[in-house]
Amino acid sequence: MSDLGVELEVEVQEEAQEIPILFLHDVERHYSQGDATLNILNGAELALWAGQSVALVAPSGAGKSTLLHLAGLLEHPDHGEVYIDGKATAILPDAERTRIRRNEIGFVYQSHHLLPEFTALENVLMPQLIRGLSRGEAKTRAVELLDYLGLKGRLNHRPAEMSGGEQQRVAIARAVANAPRILLADEPTGNLDVKTADHVFAAFTQLVRASGLATIIATHNMDIAARMDRRVTIRDGLVVELD
Ligand code: ADP
Repeated sequence: MSDLGVELEVEVQEEAQEIPILFLHDVERHYSQGDATLNILNGAELALWAGQSVALVAPSGAGKSTLLHLAGLLEHPDHGEVYIDGKATAILPDAERTRIRRNEIGFVYQSHHLLPEFTALENVLMPQLIRGLSRGEAKTRAVELLDYLGLKGRLNHRPAEMSGGEQQRVAIARAVANAPRILLADEPTGNLDVKTADHVFAAFTQLVRASGLATIIATHNMDIAARMDRRVTIRDGLVVELD
């Protein structure tokens, strides 16, 4: 394991293993569409333990993004609770939810969402500076992460000067820059060709395994899903294990 893996590794105490790092309990999310109500999540349960990877495989419109937004504290459920490391989050003030989101949760989206006017290095520095790390500490970690993801030669490139696969690897580095405990990925290779997707996904899984992160990856790609620890889908508003 590289130095980075050791550094990123989450210290999991034995008793802590009994508590999921993420637990969606009896979660409901409904949207109105004209006169109708869409019951996207309707009593959903999902427990995720440290170090575990879960593929969320469901057709478009089934509620994958909705589930990830709730898990990532970007939205509130209409009913139920989202526990992060055993802590109920619904009643927390927004500032505390933001703190948890910034420190404990990383996001990777289908589009990289990198800041176009900044280099790869600066994009990975940014979340760490916002968290309060010194520029020196943040830079050391950003360089290490980008190197780990095979981007040593791209540190000073802006997004437009990189390929789609490289952009997405920078986005992964940025997502884990603050050493989160949970990584949520919404179709992270959806915009890439098959070969590039495979390359990016290999980097993603290597990082996840080395760091002990818990991850949910929403994907249509069955090859990717097959390489995760668990596969789940959303059916009738519930999270259902696929095997
Ligand atoms: P997926 O990620 O699986 O494609 P989403 O979670 O994005 O699915 O959306 C699930 C369903 O909820 C879709 O039918 C979508 O149109 C609907 N939906 C999502 N967000 C909203 C919203 N803010 N208002 C109304 N309907 C929404």
